[in-house]
Amino acid sequence: MSTTDAAPATQAAPVDLPIVPHWIDGAERAPAGGRTAEVYNPATGAVSAHVALADEADVAAAIASASRGFETWREYSIAKRQSVLFAFRELLNARKAELAEIITAEHGKVLSDAMGEILRGLEVVELACGFPSLLKGGFSENASTGIDVYSLRQPLGVTGIISPFNFPAMVPMWFFPIAIAAGNAVVLKPSEKDPSASIWMARLWQEAGLPDGAFTVLQGDKTAVDGLLTSPDVQSISFVGSTPIAQYIYETASRHGKRVQALGGAKNHMLVLPDADLDLAADQAVNAGYGAAGERCMAISVVLAVEPVADELVGKIKERIARLRIGNGAGGPDGEPDMGPLITSQHRERVAGYVDIAEADGARIVVDGRGCSVEGHEDGFFFGPTLIDDVPTTSRAYQEEIFGPVLEVVRVPSFRDGVDLINSGAFGNGTAIFTNDGGAARRFQHEVQVGMIGINVPIPVPVAYHSFGGWKSSLFGDAKAYGEHGFDFFTREKAITSRWLDPAQHGGINLGFPQN
Ligand code: NAD
Repeated sequence: MSTTDAAPATQAAPVDLPIVPHWIDGAERAPAGGRTAEVYNPATGAVSAHVALADEADVAAAIASASRGFETWREYSIAKRQSVLFAFRELLNARKAELAEIITAEHGKVLSDAMGEILRGLEVVELACGFPSLLKGGFSENASTGIDVYSLRQPLGVTGIISPFNFPAMVPMWFFPIAIAAGNAVVLKPSEKDPSASIWMARLWQEAGLPDGAFTVLQGDKTAVDGLLTSPDVQSISFVGSTPIAQYIYETASRHGKRVQALGGAKNHMLVLPDADLDLAADQAVNAGYGAAGERCMAISVVLAVEPVADELVGKIKERIARLRIGNGAGGPDGEPDMGPLITSQHRERVAGYVDIAEADGARIVVDGRGCSVEGHEDGFFFGPTLIDDVPTTSRAYQEEIFGPVLEVVRVPSFRDGVDLINSGAFGNGTAIFTNDGGAARRFQHEVQVGMIGINVPIPVPVAYHSFGGWKSSLFGDAKAYGEHGFDFFTREKAITSRWLDPAQHGGINLGFPQN
């Protein structure tokens, strides 16, 4: 996806709808130039708000405020910084239900799934609370006679985070708890499709005691992004989104001298070996393929069925799809559905377009989600779970990321063919193997060229103290998100060599290169 999907920018918002503002200098700020875009409730199809779209004046104000915030925040003692982190953790935990409702109203995912993303973000906040032990430097006494060498880790300054629509709370939380714990200031540029979670989190930081400016929200589109990428006052960029934009971000920000991590798109395969428990594999394919309507970068989008199990596996997946309930993610008289709508009507058209392509290329549509309609929500952006068998690997529908509730089945004759197919793809975000053969699983983890691997686990998102990131066109740069990579990314190391003069050890004049 890309911002070509976004609603067209307008100059003036109707008076009866709220404008989701920027958060600059610890307060809401309207867009300087008055540009806005529409925000939808995807379950009803109605415009629920307008979001500010930054122009150059907003970008400059946000970065200037963050620079001041950094000067204040970096001087807080470790103990004071830690107490702010803990306060943020407590507030987030106590009020997470409010945030989940905000996410569901603008993204469309079901409430329990919105809560799931918050809990995965909270995990990173909890990791960041322990930053004093993780950012301790090293000290070597007497590296040479009378000389000590030690290293310090210092914050970078103003750090930029640019996030996608599909995890409006979790993806920013992959980065900002660690950036802030390390003493940086953050400017978050959220997706313009679901911008309200960012403002809610900004208020929470203020309540937790973070000084104004240390957490800034800059709403907007390409103008806001380009302003961050090119500003000499922004030291780093952490991006998550589609591959073409990730590559643009990586190249542009690097050219402007910044540290960059840019996580891109995905096409995740699940390899099912003949010895696997097929009921488990079918359950997990359905969970990982259709959860959040497939709008997850770690969703399973291709099932590689190693023959002779394909017919049986496809049958089991089909049976399970028939039991899925599609509806408003906020719930209704019948409780919470299994799956909500897609993010926009344009995206629904795009997903349908890929199903058309697969069909035209000779694939067999086993379950067709095109034309799905939910009673009482006829204008919502719903797309039914779709299962496509025998997808030719030459089809664009196989090769490109669809980012919708579409599971494609490719039948392969052997383990080797499955691994080769995975390794021949452009992406390398996540993959999974389902088997009871430990040797095959071990061979898979050794040979597969993918950053995150599940063994009988379909969505192997690492816990906060490991790091998240793919290979190939799923990650530009060499720093993954959170874990040790996160602390490395958001700090710069200084090494200090020190000697306090002691007349007994004074070496006198020596023009040679220092040796031990
Ligand atoms: P996107 O690339 O359209 O947008 C991401 C961000 O970039 C948004 O903030 C958007 O405003 C900005 N942007 C979009 N077009 C731009 C342009 N031309 N110039 C400058 N900035 C621009 O992605 P999306 O549709 O919001 O999110 C879905 C994509 O994100 C999928 O491809 C998904 O796989 C990917 N994703 C990847 C991961 C991961 O960890 N690898 C995680 C979540 C989502």
